[in-house]
Amino acid sequence: MSEAASANATPAAIGREIARRRTFAIISHPDAGKTTLTERILRAGGAIQLAGNVRAKGERRRTKSDWMGIERDRGISVVTSVMTFEYGDCVFNLLDTPGHEDFSEDTYRTLTAVDCAVMVIDAAKGIEARTRKLFEICRLRDIPIVTFINKMDREAQDSFALLDEIGGTLALDTAPATWPVGRAAQFVGTYDLRTRELHGAAAELPQSDARMIQLSEELELVQAALPEFDRESFDAGHLTPVFFGSAMKEIGVTDLLDALVAYGPAPRAQPTETRDVRADEEQVTALIFKIQANMDPNHRDRMAFARICSGRLTRGMRLRHVRTGKQFALHTPQFFFARDRQLAEEAFGGDVVGIPNHGTLRIGDTLSESEDLRFTGVPHFAPEILRRVRLDDAMKAKKLRQALVELAEEGVVQLFRPQDGLPPIVGVVGTLQLDVLQSRLKGEYGVTIGFESTPYTMARWVTGDRARIETFSMVNRSAMADDLDGDPVFLASSAFMMRRTAETNPELAFHDIKQIG
Ligand code: GDP
Repeated sequence: MSEAASANATPAAIGREIARRRTFAIISHPDAGKTTLTERILRAGGAIQLAGNVRAKGERRRTKSDWMGIERDRGISVVTSVMTFEYGDCVFNLLDTPGHEDFSEDTYRTLTAVDCAVMVIDAAKGIEARTRKLFEICRLRDIPIVTFINKMDREAQDSFALLDEIGGTLALDTAPATWPVGRAAQFVGTYDLRTRELHGAAAELPQSDARMIQLSEELELVQAALPEFDRESFDAGHLTPVFFGSAMKEIGVTDLLDALVAYGPAPRAQPTETRDVRADEEQVTALIFKIQANMDPNHRDRMAFARICSGRLTRGMRLRHVRTGKQFALHTPQFFFARDRQLAEEAFGGDVVGIPNHGTLRIGDTLSESEDLRFTGVPHFAPEILRRVRLDDAMKAKKLRQALVELAEEGVVQLFRPQDGLPPIVGVVGTLQLDVLQSRLKGEYGVTIGFESTPYTMARWVTGDRARIETFSMVNRSAMADDLDGDPVFLASSAFMMRRTAETNPELAFHDIKQIG
């Protein structure tokens, strides 16, 4: 351990390090400007020299084949799945969420690992469908939201009307933190409502400028009509501070980052089955929330992304892998930056590190220095689309089995092995996941598959007394399958069928969400 590193090992120093972590994600509807804002944020943090290089295009404009090209080109998506940078004496971990709604489960899991979300809204369009959905996910977990109203350099809706819309459609209090100076082509900067300072080129305007006159008129209204920022309501997810800006013109971006530095939130406590774990607790705990396989196609390596939930992790440390009870040595934990990665000699509560492994670590797993804890809140949702896998070359059956397990562990699809021994069934939330599965099986494993329809439209995890589950499985053999963990799943052909089965088996419970971990 270097001297600098060991100086960080006292409880007070660990507390200080944790308090300066900012771990967040950006949520938005496609095209609102998430990619552009990400680039500007990384540039402000010095993580990239030139903006415009994080990604070539926004995800919605990608065609299906583009998506698969990107999936195949693991380099890009891995580099962007977490980006660590420093700004204003804070260490930021920006977690990327997939833009396409077919990958919503992945997004959900990523949001379990953040302390805050930045909601980007297009100033002309207001709240759009996907923003709303993602917001609801954040609300379920009481994740504090910071709002960035983007594209103020273009024709925009009235600022008061936008705040009303956010407040009304999301049932969320809005407290403007800044106010725009000028609109559309005349948008030159922001006024900070807390410090009463002008930012950007607005600072150069004479008081007689029409935009300054408009600003002072509007400020009277703002102060009379809108609530002030309240830390407690923000932390509880009830109130959002609102920033105005233009990611493209780089206006308002540092307002946003400065606010994250000033108000946080710092790493939150994370729930386990038995208690909440505070970030500043001394023992190290971590939650695996994402797996990415075959990042380097030449080595069958897998990266598990862990949120450090508490303590100070050092390289070489041995942690308990709670699911298996075995020790797991952290030889090469890694930090990710915009373009490269680096060995993490130490990391603190709130940080996100990549842990290379060969399949030991799964989504939802807990690593813990001592206490037997299991983090909760990382769910599997019952898939809505169920397809049987058809293998073209029977010689590759064994390879397919292994590949499906690996990709299911990564969360690409859910895998169900029918108890009657028929070929495996995969379950997905969106059909794009099937395309990705097919393409990755071919590209990474050399296995060509097709899909066949099944009579099933629903999958439900079955819990209850073991003997009763066995009896039920025997009676319903052709509709029973085991999931990746070997847990029993009932496959129903219709909602009616599902209801009837539940009614006739009141001693069993049928779940559409499975908590993993
Ligand atoms: P994403 O789909 O949310 O990642 O959105 P992008 O960042 O790819 O942006 C979508 C489009 O809006 C692109 O053409 C951007 O250049 C443009 N854009 C992003 N931010 C701004 C902005 O502040 N002002 C203007 N005028 N255009 C923007």
